[in-house]
Amino acid sequence: MLPLDAIEHRLDAARAATVDPPGVAALDELHDLLARLATASPEARAALLRRAHALLPPLRRLAGEPAAPPSDYAESHGGFAGALAALAASVDRVPGVGPKRAKELERFGLATVEDVLYHLPFRYEDRRVVSRLRDLVIGTDATTEGEVAGVRQAVVGRARRRLLEVALRDGTDVVLLIWFNQVGYFAQRFTSGQRLLVHGRVEPPIGNGPSRIVHPDVVVLGEDDAESRAAIHPVYEKPTGMPVGVMRRLVHAAVDAYVARVPAALPPAVARRARVIEPSRALRYLHAPPNEANPDVLNASRSYAHRSLAFDELFFLQLGLALRRTAAGRVPGTAFPASTRLVPALRAALPFRPTAAQDRAVAEIAADLAEPHPMRRLLQGDVGSGKTLVGLLAALTVVEQGHQAAFMAPTELLAEQHHATIGSLVAPLGVRAELLTGAIRGRARRTVLEGLASGEVAIVVGTQALIQEGVEFQRVGLAVVDEQHRFGVMQRAAWQRREGDGGALDVLVMSATPIPRTLALTLYGDLAVSTLDELPPGRTPIVTEVHRAGRREAVHGRLRDEVARGHQAYVVYPLVEESEKSELRAATTMVRELGAGPLAGLRLALLHGRMKAEEKDTVMRRFKAREFDVLVSTTVIEVGIDVPNATVIVIEHAERFGLAQLHQLRGRVGRGQARGHCHLIAPDWMHEDTFKRLRVLEQTTDGFRIAEADLELRGPGDFLGTRQAGLPPFRVANLMRDTALLRLARDEALAWLAADPELSQPESAAVRAMLAHRWAGRLELAQVG
Ligand code: ADP
Ligand code: MG
Repeated sequence: MLPLDAIEHRLDAARAATVDPPGVAALDELHDLLARLATASPEARAALLRRAHALLPPLRRLAGEPAAPPSDYAESHGGFAGALAALAASVDRVPGVGPKRAKELERFGLATVEDVLYHLPFRYEDRRVVSRLRDLVIGTDATTEGEVAGVRQAVVGRARRRLLEVALRDGTDVVLLIWFNQVGYFAQRFTSGQRLLVHGRVEPPIGNGPSRIVHPDVVVLGEDDAESRAAIHPVYEKPTGMPVGVMRRLVHAAVDAYVARVPAALPPAVARRARVIEPSRALRYLHAPPNEANPDVLNASRSYAHRSLAFDELFFLQLGLALRRTAAGRVPGTAFPASTRLVPALRAALPFRPTAAQDRAVAEIAADLAEPHPMRRLLQGDVGSGKTLVGLLAALTVVEQGHQAAFMAPTELLAEQHHATIGSLVAPLGVRAELLTGAIRGRARRTVLEGLASGEVAIVVGTQALIQEGVEFQRVGLAVVDEQHRFGVMQRAAWQRREGDGGALDVLVMSATPIPRTLALTLYGDLAVSTLDELPPGRTPIVTEVHRAGRREAVHGRLRDEVARGHQAYVVYPLVEESEKSELRAATTMVRELGAGPLAGLRLALLHGRMKAEEKDTVMRRFKAREFDVLVSTTVIEVGIDVPNATVIVIEHAERFGLAQLHQLRGRVGRGQARGHCHLIAPDWMHEDTFKRLRVLEQTTDGFRIAEADLELRGPGDFLGTRQAGLPPFRVANLMRDTALLRLARDEALAWLAADPELSQPESAAVRAMLAHRWAGRLELAQVG
């Protein structure tokens, strides 16, 4: 007999605590099934149970999770300024943190009290069962307890290694605790008679001595009991050189002293709908989980406490992004009607037809330009998808109305390439395009500057030099910023602040690392997104192969073959100089070895990041002019050299690069008629998983799929650097994992703003204060009203 009532009761509780839609749907169906079960015939009953059974796997994920208290979010009242100031205070305010520790923590990225509070355990150990010493099993992780019977330092082995040995006793049983590191620190920490709670891997005895635990995690009982008895034991990432126990005590000291002050700033109605608990409660739960918590759920970051903190983070993120967008939408700008002359003329002159994706992007941009507000748009598309043409058509729309357009590229060489392309396309239309980089000096520079000031130069292509002082435009209307792989917001911001004729400038940002739309909308929150998801027809895809280092010789052979056919090659290394510790085959040493060995007889050139810009330029130019066969380099070639005659790229230590970066790198070949080849070399000892990860590049040339795979592996923080993207840091939320929560947060934030667009109502006071705190200067709250 099934305890149907009890099951139903549990189901109701689970439904109340679940918000993610698949979970809700499954629970609802289960509820239905159970209701029918009571009255069903035996055959029908079997079918119902089978169906119920099938629903279980997706629910198992949620099952271990305790039901969140549904509606007791206790919002904070007043006192926000003081509380937020306390949280923003330097980490040296945490009890037990002196100037030395403070420095250590700061270097580790924990600069404020709040940073420490939000430094969540990266792992939890289940120590709810404390084994007797006599019951320890060799080869297992265990928690045990005993009394210190002796402390002894010794020097062992031919290497004369110092070690510390602490004998732990329980009745007649003994184990040895061993330290090879921080021997001095631990030697003074333990004395005979102390009771220790110890956790670690039990290892076999040496000779017929006792079993051993090497580098155990130790708590001195009686000294720091409150935290130490915690049966589900949090483990923290820490600065190297700081003992784990010290790190844990510091975090817990911060929690004790400050966690109560972390404000609960969500509007209560929002908190209730999202079923979240206050941050202070969630933090306490995660730093010191109660015994009944589920360590598996904690380790998967799926507890309701995690979820609550993530929602809180995402709500304020989305709120800030929405405010940025509406602020831009209200600013006056120039309206540029659709082009009737220059754009049709250029299209007629093109030797190819724009792709459907290009046409779509051009239409989206034209609509933005026609609005009397500044355009803020991201054009994303894979390498070679034809972004330049789209940007140029936008520029011509502006030029047709007597305004100027500026194209900004990240390097001089790229600016030159853009200038060459654009110049030849627009010259027949009677439009003057000039180049302005740091390398253009003297008279040439003066001529360009005069042309810009008088308005005769309609399009200027350049580097950062364009936003430097002394560059005056007569009437600039549009800036196109080609960021390639660099997501610098500073340059973009410089243009966005700039006043055009009728208000703020229109800005189009181009990125060659396409990412999924929802993510793009968040990471570039204040930009609208156009995507080129299609490559022009007739491209020969690059052939990519992943190799173990043992096959390097064969790869070099293939490279020589291509050079023998008159083509050129790149060899890429991840580092400039070989450091003592690293075995990386750095470019500087390798160019010598390659020249003396496997690539002897070929003309090699070296290019690396520490060279001066002029030196780099010279090398690239000579490579382009075919004075060299092989360019040995670090990643500096990533940002856009275009040498159609180069057909091979060999990337050493491919495992050190992100997939998106490798994809960019290989985009350097296959730009001409001949097929491009990319060889990724990874060490022989490399783990099979890493190998599989690299294989993604063998299987697809679709930049979106690659970016997605990369994001899943590394998370958006590493992928883009949220700091660079001008967003608050993500402490808890994971944009790949928490997509459903992200959408919920976005909806709630937009709804809240719809009701109170200026955040000026009294109910928004807490929200406002927290928003300013989280975005700390990244959001101009003046705009908020
Ligand atoms: P990216 O998006 O990487 O900046 P580019 O704008 O540099 O790409 O374009 C790559 C190449 O493709 C250029 O040589 C360009 O002239 C060409 N191209 C652009 N659009 C088309 C098209 N619709 N059909 C054929 N070739 C195109
Ligand atoms: Mg480009």
